[in-house]
Amino acid sequence: MRIIRIKVPTPFYIGPVNVYLIAEDPITIIDTGPKTKEAVVALKDGLRAAGFKVSDIRRIVLTHAHEDHCGLARSVRDEAKNAEVFVHEWETGHRHSRLEHDEHKSLLVRAGVPDDEIAALRRMYMGMRQYADAFAEHEYSPLLDNGELQFETGSLRIVHTPGHTPGSCSFIREADRTVIAGDCILKRITPNPVLSPDPIDPSKRFPSLAEYLVSLARLRSFAPTLVYGGHGDEVNDYDELFNRYIRAVQERQSQVIKLVPKEGTTAWEVAQKMFPGTDDVHRFLAVSEAVAHLDLAHSEGKLGYEVSGPTEVYKPL
Ligand SMILES: [Zn+2]
Ligand SMILES: [Zn+2]
Repeated sequence: MRIIRIKVPTPFYIGPVNVYLIAEDPITIIDTGPKTKEAVVALKDGLRAAGFKVSDIRRIVLTHAHEDHCGLARSVRDEAKNAEVFVHEWETGHRHSRLEHDEHKSLLVRAGVPDDEIAALRRMYMGMRQYADAFAEHEYSPLLDNGELQFETGSLRIVHTPGHTPGSCSFIREADRTVIAGDCILKRITPNPVLSPDPIDPSKRFPSLAEYLVSLARLRSFAPTLVYGGHGDEVNDYDELFNRYIRAVQERQSQVIKLVPKEGTTAWEVAQKMFPGTDDVHRFLAVSEAVAHLDLAHSEGKLGYEVSGPTEVYKPL
């Protein structure tokens, strides 16, 4: 099975995103790049270099529905005519009718984010939408955990690896234990467990970091030999990266616990102390990071927690 990486530029801080072409019938791409002219050019160039064109694509598989990964799914599908789009049903970013913003808003209020900051985050969020087209419910097929994507000479196993987002999926070629992992595994940076509503009960927060740790362990059980991430180069030593991630989570957790004063604090206040002077998308990611670590510390019995008016307050034990 030929897996070809196509590097596609994004207008985002993270830099280029990796699209993976599975050059075997049915011709499949995993992720697409954002909806920008530059990304379209890079994607088409990459396909051409491998001997294909957009109209050859039969399947568009999304690791998750962030704009840099799903942005071109609709236009590729339209140009390829009969291509089918696959995404896990817990993803919401690509949906027409996403309630995400309102649900996010209540999560942000509970995390203690001030109103003017929520308004700024909303403007940023609306600005992001230009980088991806939305899909109606009937326009995509679900990726099912443990299912298989069949190819002419083999298959990729679908493994639901929530954490970065609730519906993030990885794809494993069991014959040689190669993994395509989207933003679940990134070589140089620890992926952010992004603040998300729980797909089962959107009034709750998705336990992103706890789920992420389970996903990392699950991928480890496949003993990966090679991992293709959503950004940057491939990972050859999964165990080393796994241990590094776990250490980073532990270090961050002890840092976060130290930032909780006797009288208690909100996730927003912790985020401000952890990442002073951050702006735009990083302020949202900072809150995500603070919430994720505070929640994990609370669930592990290392912090107290109470609801005070509209906000949640973490306290030392
Ligand atoms: Zn992502
Ligand atoms: Zn990404």
